[in-house]
Amino acid sequence: MLGPPGAGKGTQARVLQDRLGVPQIASGDLLRAAARDRSTLGLNAKRYMDRGSLVPDEVVLKLIAARLHESDAAAGFILDGFPRTREQAEALATMLKDSGALDRVIALNVPDEEIIKRISGRRTCRNCGEMYHLVFDPPRNQDHCNECNSELYQRDDDSEDTLRMRLQVYVAETRPLLEYYQRQGILTQVDGIGRPEEVAGRILKQLGVDGAKLAAAKKGAQP
Ligand code: AMP
Repeated sequence: MLGPPGAGKGTQARVLQDRLGVPQIASGDLLRAAARDRSTLGLNAKRYMDRGSLVPDEVVLKLIAARLHESDAAAGFILDGFPRTREQAEALATMLKDSGALDRVIALNVPDEEIIKRISGRRTCRNCGEMYHLVFDPPRNQDHCNECNSELYQRDDDSEDTLRMRLQVYVAETRPLLEYYQRQGILTQVDGIGRPEEVAGRILKQLGVDGAKLAAAKKGAQP
């Protein structure tokens, strides 16, 4: 999933995870977990994240490579927030050399003014990572997650100044990947405006997946 911060990559990757039955692998989540564990790598990464800068490639690549080797990723995965630079995209292609290249890159298009609205109201569950918006998708029980009832918090890097920096980094480092994947013929651009289910419907249509049928088939297949 490609797109600026607040485009809905995480939300949509979670929908796809449920519909397609392959895990969402979010570099930001891996980095935040490492920071929470207070590992040297995680604490080092947090310094970059709090400023809105990119964490050095060697750190991100190490986390992603390890995650891709876990057994649940053997049949496929949805990458969210990775790659973010040309170097990361090339390193990813090398990692996937033997197992098969990326099938599709979904780019979510959302204008800056909408991003600012979305990020300022964004709240995330400390425990399970579920996301809410104070206005557009409020939790049932104020400040607590609908799924696991844990506390919701505002990410340190969702402040206005840091967001501005993240948008600049997106334009300079990540947006050029649109052309990179366009040239490879695997880029699909999707309008990211609207309710999450509407956006998900557009993505599934582009992927040639009938979301309702697939969900029903998966349910039926479960023991
Ligand atoms: P995200 O959760 O995807 O919005 O990422 C939050 C922050 O984590 C970013 O602003 C970066 O500081 C860092 N980060 C996440 N993914 C990457 C990546 N692929 N490369 C470098 N830094 C990353």
